[in-house]
Amino acid sequence: MTALYQQLPSVDKLIKTPQGESLILKYGHSAVVTQCREMLSRARSEIKKQGEAPTFFNHNHSLFQQLEQNLIRQQQVKIKSVHNLTGTVLHTNLGRALWPRAAQQAALTAMAQNVALEYDLEIGKRSHRDNYISELLQHITGAEAACIVNNNAAAVLLMLATFAKDKEVIISRGELIEIGGAFRIPDIMAQAGCKLVEVGTTNRTHVKDYRQAINENTAFLMKVHSSNYQICGFTSAVAEHELVELGREFGIPVISDLGSGALIDLSRYNLPKEPRLQEKLNQGVDLISFSGDKLLGGPQAGIIVGKKALIEQLQAHPLKRVLRCDKVILAGLEASLRLYLQPEKLAEKLTTLHLLTQPLEQLQQQAQRLKQKLEPLLKEDFVLQIEPSSAQIGSGSQPTAKIPSVSVTLAEKSRGKLTALLSRLKALSSPVIARCEQDKIWLDLRSLADIEALLNTLSELEE
Ligand SMILES: *Cc1c(COP(=O)(O)O)cnc(C)c1O
Repeated sequence: MTALYQQLPSVDKLIKTPQGESLILKYGHSAVVTQCREMLSRARSEIKKQGEAPTFFNHNHSLFQQLEQNLIRQQQVKIKSVHNLTGTVLHTNLGRALWPRAAQQAALTAMAQNVALEYDLEIGKRSHRDNYISELLQHITGAEAACIVNNNAAAVLLMLATFAKDKEVIISRGELIEIGGAFRIPDIMAQAGCKLVEVGTTNRTHVKDYRQAINENTAFLMKVHSSNYQICGFTSAVAEHELVELGREFGIPVISDLGSGALIDLSRYNLPKEPRLQEKLNQGVDLISFSGDKLLGGPQAGIIVGKKALIEQLQAHPLKRVLRCDKVILAGLEASLRLYLQPEKLAEKLTTLHLLTQPLEQLQQQAQRLKQKLEPLLKEDFVLQIEPSSAQIGSGSQPTAKIPSVSVTLAEKSRGKLTALLSRLKALSSPVIARCEQDKIWLDLRSLADIEALLNTLSELEE
């Protein structure tokens, strides 16, 4: 045992070899030394556990090969590109909306150059960083003004902290939601220092429930879009326009967390209907918040639109400074929103809408190419088929609504192959993320951004 430990080289000896010196030239002294230390410490614990050092320690050549591999791996970004074949177009774990090209370009400019972020070029004076987007949203939605923060959770927090601190907010029990990543409406309320007043029951809430709960300490009547679940059967909820009527009677503003929210009528594209921002504004809701990277199809952001006087108070709250967006996000969001000025081109230029509206024939063609690519590689162990499937928008939009799609399915011929293949797919240079259902792997083409890139990646399986 001791002999084994003694056979391990010292860090000093390793870095003074010609191979060590050339690695130092390439990767720098400290990275090489740190990596040598780590490998030696792993070798010592192997000896302790297994009674022998890892095999690559037996040969100088393989030792330095391993060392270089570790150094390369250390430099690679782990938030790397993956192929989304889950069938969920806005997948929160995979980064939600893909930025439209125009947004990518605007963001690149903002990254590398000075930009007129808080500078009005027409009057040559300091201005506000949300101004351009606010003007655009006025134009697109008819809202009086807008305020932009990091994400929709931040938007809800800011609305509550600004207007409802030490006050009460009335909300239906049917809308006390938790969405992924532990965003719970009651927790946000607590963070904002306001008291939640729950009314109604899980399945039914009436106007009179809200009316009875109103008192001199009420700050808001609040609606939350029940994004990721649906209450079916014997149900009743109070519509925004009814709440607005009630709020007007008592002089209490109505706010709405719309979640995804759509700026366009999705049913025009044969997609499941999602509440439209403009409808809610027309119904008189005072403030509405929604996400930038859900159906809007832009960068992660939280957008609040509504009455100018209220938006001005949000802008003036110290938390706004904490939650504001940076120039890259604002440039990307502005460019994404500008696409809405040409609605006829939207399905072509807004990547999210493009994916959602791809015709089935096109997905069918892609499925054929994918199947042709995989068949020779996998036919020993799997039965490959092209099958109709159900995709979804994702990120809480219409959780029960299915969008017709096409998948290549892989059914194993003998047990145990499925898990092994899933791991192989995840180990590719750009991992393939698929869905596993009914003992099959489903490669759903609705959510895939780039078939050529996928086919390229899959060539790695040939090696
Ligand atoms: C998605 C969602 C949120 C959170 O939005 P983020 O932009 O992820 O912070 C809040 N409320 C509802 C109803 C949602 O659907």
